[in-house]
Amino acid sequence: MKIILLLTALVAGVLSEETFIGHQVLRIKANSHEQIGQLEVLQSLSHLELDFWSEPANPKMPVDIRVPFENLMSVKVYLESNNIEYSVMIEDLQKSIDKEREEMESNRRKERNAGTFNYGSYHTLDDIYKAIDFIVTDFKSIVSRQQIGTSYEGRPLYVLKFSTGANRPGIWIDAGIHSREWVTQATALWTAQKLAFDYGNDASVTSLLNSYDVFLLVVTNPDGYAFSHSSNRMWRKTRSVNSGSKCIGVDPNRNWNAGFGGPGASTDPCSDSYHGPRAESEVEVKAVADFIRSHGKIKGFISIHSYSQLLLFPYGYKCTNPAHFTELNTVGKAAASALTSLYGTQYTVGTICSTIYQASGGSIDWTYDIGIKYSFAFELRDTGRYGFLLPATQILPTAQETWLGLKKILEHIRDNPY
Ligand SMILES: [Zn+2]
Repeated sequence: MKIILLLTALVAGVLSEETFIGHQVLRIKANSHEQIGQLEVLQSLSHLELDFWSEPANPKMPVDIRVPFENLMSVKVYLESNNIEYSVMIEDLQKSIDKEREEMESNRRKERNAGTFNYGSYHTLDDIYKAIDFIVTDFKSIVSRQQIGTSYEGRPLYVLKFSTGANRPGIWIDAGIHSREWVTQATALWTAQKLAFDYGNDASVTSLLNSYDVFLLVVTNPDGYAFSHSSNRMWRKTRSVNSGSKCIGVDPNRNWNAGFGGPGASTDPCSDSYHGPRAESEVEVKAVADFIRSHGKIKGFISIHSYSQLLLFPYGYKCTNPAHFTELNTVGKAAASALTSLYGTQYTVGTICSTIYQASGGSIDWTYDIGIKYSFAFELRDTGRYGFLLPATQILPTAQETWLGLKKILEHIRDNPY
């Protein structure tokens, strides 16, 4: 079997890349806190090289785990011997990755021939940055590009600024802090052209941009994103070197100065939720935090992740409700129902801790604690059939429905100045 796998890899010409041949993604339904505990034990067994797409913390939420081919047997035996229910969500992950790649490349050829940009396709970082420049050129009276910093590997962090007047308060939106969540960068890019186009055409967007600036960071973690294209489709973290460890990268959404180093973050540099040596150790996180601090009038902060179909608000690092719980919950529910109205996509709304699990060092907890009342995080489609490998055919529907939810939040901020 091993030889066949190796030959397949050679034929596919992907030996320089991390391959996921025969890896399965298992969907696990723990039905008790005891079983959650057993999954935590499984998670602690680092030699199994498991990749938890969602964390075991809450018996209400399924846990999705990518299991390397060679460890499938032991993991399944472990689950069965503990009577833990599971199903195979993705049969062979590499096949799904190859299919995604082929679609991307065929789209790229079509775009080149037609001289167009297809928002309904996944793109490389270079192509996203080119698209950002096109948007700035096409809508230069209201959109400009600002570089707020440079990534660890030297890539620019470009923020799109939508502005129609000086000295306005601002609203921040970012995507792609976790690089493998590809539908988020694609959604943010579509949102950029939508915002620009709707100014002057849509009364709601026009009135919003007549009183607020919007800042949109399409690719918050460009090193990770580039790496997820070139070398490892499942890459989530930054690409910084951890001194004293062979493992690369920090989870940039455990790296903010909010309950830093607390529950739901790892001290192990090899973990996908490693919080880093100190808060804001990651230059990408520091660049955003510095921008927010120096702006001084950011009134809303929305961070876009995938997947699970959730609309979350603080707190994650602790399980007490925020002071504005009722308002945030009401706005969140209204946003989710606007989102659902388009295609029926169901969202769950609530605090991070009550909805998923306790997680420290997250961006929206930090922004809320420094006084940005309207701090939200989206987890876009889906609920686990494809997970991070959401087919490109779902990009536009996802972006369109998310826009309706986003717009509700933006309108609430516009109508409730503080
Ligand atoms: Zn994420």
